[in-house]
Amino acid sequence: MTELLFQKDSYLKEFEAKIVEIIEDSIILDKTAFAPKGGGLTSDLGTILFNDGEQLDVVEVTSKGGKIYHKLSSNPDSKYSGTSVKGILDWERRYKQMRLHTVLHSISSILYKKYGTTVTGGNITPEKSRVDFDIDHLRQERVQEIETTVKKIIDGDHKVSVSFLEREEALKDPDLIRTKVNLIPENVKILRIVDIENIDRQADGGVHVKSTKEIGSFVPLKTENRGKDKKRLYFTVKP
Ligand SMILES: [Zn+2]
Repeated sequence: MTELLFQKDSYLKEFEAKIVEIIEDSIILDKTAFAPKGGGLTSDLGTILFNDGEQLDVVEVTSKGGKIYHKLSSNPDSKYSGTSVKGILDWERRYKQMRLHTVLHSISSILYKKYGTTVTGGNITPEKSRVDFDIDHLRQERVQEIETTVKKIIDGDHKVSVSFLEREEALKDPDLIRTKVNLIPENVKILRIVDIENIDRQADGGVHVKSTKEIGSFVPLKTENRGKDKKRLYFTVKP
């Protein structure tokens, strides 16, 4: 199991860790601040600095069987097995991803509270982010309504907090039931809960900013009709 440093502190930009395994172009560390691809978010990028000054780029991070695979720009020498490395995140990219992710949760709460619908999919990348949901129409006035409400949430400076809850407790929480906490595999006993104060609360493994104020400006880009009751909204955030 790789210890997931980013789940406790999403603001960690650099960290020290030990290489526990090298598999061709990928390394597994005992702990990492690199968040893997998954849950609608793209992978972090950055650099691994070896103990002799050598460095390689992290080109993709994936999670499999409790281990985090850091795919590097080329195969690292096997002599590095068991040695310490420094991981350095592409922070600009990651921070934008955190802001986009907190916006996505805010939108999901608006959709539920205002229109009684839920998000059915979404994909966050610093270059292009989108959210899909079941709603009859997404005309200009509705997009504007979403935009205005998101802006209110941003201006409200709502705190975003992370806590860890036992599965049995989580299954009693109405907010968590609404966001389908019961679909999380049963072998997961402790759930990570992300709470945007008075806005949204759900079990979530991804990285977020610590207050909605950090989102900056929310910018809806375009909408797409994906069929009856299926609408897509592209969006971004600006400083
Ligand atoms: Zn999320």
